[in-house]
Amino acid sequence: ASPTETLEFQAETRQLLQLVIHSIYSNKDIFLRELISNASDALDKLRLESLTDTDLAADTSDLHITLEVDQAARTLTVRDNGIGMTRDDVVDLIGTIAKSGTASLLAKIKEAKDADAAQSLIGQFGVGFYSAFMVADKVTLHTRRAGTEQGTVWESDGEGSYTIAEAEGLPVGTSVTLHLKPADGEDGLGDYLATWKIRQIVKQYSDFIRWPIRMAAEDQDESERRGEPETLNSMKALWARPRSEVTEAEYNEFYQQISHDWQPPAETVHMRAEGTFEYEALLFVPAHAPFDLFSRDAKRGVQLYVKRVFIMDDCDALMPNYLRFVKGVVDAHDLSLNVSREILQHDRQITAVRRRLVKKVLAALKDMRTKDSETYAKVWEQFGRVLKEGLIEDRDNTDTLLELVSTASTHDPEKATTLREYVARMKDGQDTVYYLTGENRAMVENSPHMEAFTAKGYEVLILTDPVDEIWTDEVPSFDGHRFQSIAKGQVDLDDDSDGDGGDEAKTEKAQREQDFAALLGWLQSTLAEHVKQVRLSTRLTTSAACLVGDAQDLTPTLEKMYRAMGQ
Ligand code: ADP
Ligand code: MG
Repeated sequence: ASPTETLEFQAETRQLLQLVIHSIYSNKDIFLRELISNASDALDKLRLESLTDTDLAADTSDLHITLEVDQAARTLTVRDNGIGMTRDDVVDLIGTIAKSGTASLLAKIKEAKDADAAQSLIGQFGVGFYSAFMVADKVTLHTRRAGTEQGTVWESDGEGSYTIAEAEGLPVGTSVTLHLKPADGEDGLGDYLATWKIRQIVKQYSDFIRWPIRMAAEDQDESERRGEPETLNSMKALWARPRSEVTEAEYNEFYQQISHDWQPPAETVHMRAEGTFEYEALLFVPAHAPFDLFSRDAKRGVQLYVKRVFIMDDCDALMPNYLRFVKGVVDAHDLSLNVSREILQHDRQITAVRRRLVKKVLAALKDMRTKDSETYAKVWEQFGRVLKEGLIEDRDNTDTLLELVSTASTHDPEKATTLREYVARMKDGQDTVYYLTGENRAMVENSPHMEAFTAKGYEVLILTDPVDEIWTDEVPSFDGHRFQSIAKGQVDLDDDSDGDGGDEAKTEKAQREQDFAALLGWLQSTLAEHVKQVRLSTRLTTSAACLVGDAQDLTPTLEKMYRAMGQ
């Protein structure tokens, strides 16, 4: 074998390691879930590769995960006969956190209010393998990539560096050996050499893993000694079971397993489609948003399986961008295992599945809004801004999405309103939904544009998300009522309702224009470079003047947004 090489961890990796080891997880048990999930991924990959690459001579007859305890050496080993890694893989995957966004994640973790918040951040990022260092002071990894001969051994104490060397005679797959720290109840360190403890953790976190997780026979009870190794998990694919047979607790556990979330989901959608294209879908709306919801490379949460064979994470063909927070599983029965992202994007059946799933999720949200408005309010607070992107992206569901919109308004400062509630409160003769966009509520409320509307008792929606600027331009109306920004164009309130817009008013207006002609002319020429037109208005009650955009103009916030984007 070649000499052992010592390599440094990448700086960001080292920082993350320190955080993981010293402060983050209050629940150390989850290290096992992480290692098992890596092993399971490795088995999925080998299975898939052996099905699609006929040249790969790999034994897939008994894919499984084994847990092995050595009491004397105080080690716990997680072994799989999956895809394995080459030396380069090990350096790239284990020595580096090459994922984008690590730096910003680290900053966020440092700002996190408490351990729980930090844990959720780290958990969503999937710090995975490194969680081993919470319970071990040394980790040794042996691995051989399927289809290659050379094995690799990697070892680290999780401080600044790791060693890497060649190893002979390894089976295909990976084993991760943890040299356990002493058990210490106070530190949250359980006794990970105890079989009951391991059994309990596997049951809790890894029960749905679709490969057998076996406990090596060596350490079993006297009576079972030398018997068959015990399989710890049920391997039941929850989504394949009838809804009536699944308990809420099972749904929650499954959700937590696939999402790494520590809270139960806000909503569960479980469905089965039969007919020409069969599939099962089990989808969840989380109760809170992930930290990277608005980052460009945020992952979508739906996994694709084909007949219980895992195909891919983050299946973007199955969920539109504005539902990227939805997590879950779709198991399609009649797809090729070789299917690629590109093919999926253009597959008519997948498009149909996606349309159906979107309708289901939106219907579930709408249902929640009527039946459990409290939970809905929380979901909207977390995901409303993203859902409103749907008003721009998804013309098929505009009506449903408009029904979901919940927004501040001048009607009740304490309570958000729906558009339907707004319409129900409209004044006699009002046929327009009035709104004003702006950076924040106070700015919108104090805008001079508001004055006449408030004075005359018109309700105005207060829209303060950047996306509001865009969808209000794209969506013309709600239920036949036009959207009208009170900051744009001519809004002539007098004609709307007061009933006094007759001849008298017209002469009065003409008279006023005459009175102010000199001032208007002077203003017009003085401000010529800055404004298009100066005119008298009925908008204002207390302010002397305000700036108004043309109906087609960009609003100030949108202008700012575009400028910030460099346009
Ligand atoms: P993640 O699982 O989110 O990618 P991890 O830190 O858990 O992050 O693992 C990093 C990478 O190391 C994995 O993506 C995988 O490529 C590789 N890896 C980890 N464990 C194994 C294993 N048992 N077999 C093969 N590859 C593994
Ligand atoms: Mg992992």
